Amino acid sequence: MTECIFCKIVEGTVPSKKVYENDTVLAFHDIQPAAPVHVLIIPKKHIPTMNEVGESDAALIAELFAAARHIARELGIAEAGYRLVNNVNKDGGQVVYHLHVHLIGGRKLGTLVSGDVS
Ligand code: 5GP
Ligand code: ZN
Repeated sequence: MTECIFCKIVEGTVPSKKVYENDTVLAFHDIQPAAPVHVLIIPKKHIPTMNEVGESDAALIAELFAAARHIARELGIAEAGYRLVNNVNKDGGQVVYHLHVHLIGGRKLGTLVSGDVS
């Protein structure tokens, strides 16, 4: 049995507030939102980090971004703007080791140069 919390969300053994799903991708609201909109977009397949993404995952990565565009439109923040974040390993601030893209928006975000990326 998997110990990965996001695999459990994919399996449905851990509940989540889903916002989008297709055959390969799932998106749900972050349990600790950093902004009015904070959605996590994940591949259903377990990939620990961006470092383990391979050539054969190109279509899957494109799907994550397609889902992000779709969700941003659906939630009404596409025009105002939003941020997509992928944290990698310890220094990147990764806590859950199942690849995910944060879709963050609904307010004016800090600039990257200020160090506030949330
Ligand atoms: P990371 O720091 O790994 O990029 O981000 C992990 C994110 O997953 C955090 O923003 C955290 O709030 C969120 N998270 C952790 N556990 C759960 C959970 O069980 N359900 C949901 N919806 N989000 C979670
Ligand atoms: Zn997983």
